[in-house]
Amino acid sequence: MDFALTQGFLDFIDDAEIARLLSQKEDAGKVAAVLAKSLEKQALDLDETAALLVVRNQALREQVYEAARRLKREIYGNRIVLFAPLYIGNHCMNDCRYCGFRRSLTTAVRRTLTDAELEEEVRGLEREGHKRLILVYGESPEYSPEFIARTVRIVYGTKEGHGEIRRVNINAAPLDKEGFATVKQAGIGTYQIFQETYHKGTYRKFHPANTRKGDYMWRLNAMDRAFEAGCDDMGIGALFGLYDWRFEVMGLVSHAIHLQQCYQVGPHTISFPRIQPANGLDLDLRHQVGDEDFKYLVAVLRLAVPYTGLIMTARESAAVRDEVMRFGVSQIDAGTRLEIGAYHEKESVKDMQNLKKEQFRIADNRTLDETIRWLLQQKFIPSFCTSCYRVGRTGEHFMEYAIPGFIGRFCTPNALMTLAEYLKDYASPATKETGNALIRETLAAMDAGNIKQQLVERLEDLARNDTRDRLF
Ligand code: SAM
Ligand code: SF4
Repeated sequence: MDFALTQGFLDFIDDAEIARLLSQKEDAGKVAAVLAKSLEKQALDLDETAALLVVRNQALREQVYEAARRLKREIYGNRIVLFAPLYIGNHCMNDCRYCGFRRSLTTAVRRTLTDAELEEEVRGLEREGHKRLILVYGESPEYSPEFIARTVRIVYGTKEGHGEIRRVNINAAPLDKEGFATVKQAGIGTYQIFQETYHKGTYRKFHPANTRKGDYMWRLNAMDRAFEAGCDDMGIGALFGLYDWRFEVMGLVSHAIHLQQCYQVGPHTISFPRIQPANGLDLDLRHQVGDEDFKYLVAVLRLAVPYTGLIMTARESAAVRDEVMRFGVSQIDAGTRLEIGAYHEKESVKDMQNLKKEQFRIADNRTLDETIRWLLQQKFIPSFCTSCYRVGRTGEHFMEYAIPGFIGRFCTPNALMTLAEYLKDYASPATKETGNALIRETLAAMDAGNIKQQLVERLEDLARNDTRDRLF
């Protein structure tokens, strides 16, 4: 693909080329060849991704689902990583037309957590058993890189009982290079920025030109600035429902290919939120994505970028999450509260659903314990693992490790250890029983050897001596 360089920015989204590729006819032979390539764990190019996206025939889509399920099992096993979002502040100078935080919305209740409130929020999350958070911010001069870095340090430094946050990810506005370097020094995991829509005309429609976010290229090149500043753990995403979902998937894959080509590291994660009801939301959403197409687009993403984690949030209902988890997703949030302060201020359920205090409405309101029990009942291993980034397996190094045997050596043992910690410290009796049974079952199915022996010893150590957080 030819990249266009305009005013110092690099435009790697070629609208005309994407439209041309998406005009190809459904071709069962080509689909079979593409699935075979993907099952060899090779990333797909744009033409191959488009060949999957144009499939409408149900039987052919079933083949795509089956391949996605297989690939997911082979690369990620049956683990699902759990995290919670923590909203720090909703002041915002932008006016994104789909968002409950947009500046023109005078009915929004605006708030930024004080340091003391932030600590309380973190304690509230730790008491539930959370170990991984994503901090979320509006875009405002108040939320400078220094401010973000400070909140990250406060989160890491706040501990309650056996509770601690071991990984802090960020979802905030794009920064300049110095800003990314400042935030990186605070020890962040992934920095997430969603392009919202990769389609320039649509981007202009939803993001007024007189706002910071109105600058499509500043946002599109954010990851490049981050990589140049030394961050190598980046999350991309698109907000589905603004424009044609097939185009957005092509945009995401173009972005992943660009990062891989330029920095030898693809995105660590991809997110694909669908627009949810929000305060004062009155939009013509003719591109809203139905459940069937949504499930299908996740399967295509799974196959297109085999080694990129896929994140699905509680914007989706339990029923949709249940299904999509099987063939695509590797991370979900749980016990999620979007109202600022809600993890420590015990509000009534009615108040918790107050859209004036939220960015948008979520569809899955289960607690962390309920979500974990539900995963266990379906034989998924809930994981709070934070090992890779803490022992330096990120970026290029992470890619080297994404090889056969990796899951058995690192991921499964870490998942079982962090699950055992959760069961011991926080789980309800029913969850504890289901979880311990799954740990026994998983151990019984593991090949004998060093790893298994170490794992058994460490599990016993945790049970007897309270020894926590030993990383594989
Ligand atoms: N303010 C920063 C920004 O815009 O990049 C931080 C992110 S914002 C708080 C988090 C994400 O929420 C946005 O990138 C957008 O994709 C998503 N979002 C906004 N309004 C939404 C809605 N009504 N339904 C679902 N997701 C929404
Ligand atoms: Fe502000 Fe982000 Fe909401 Fe846009 S999506 S209005 S930038 S918080």
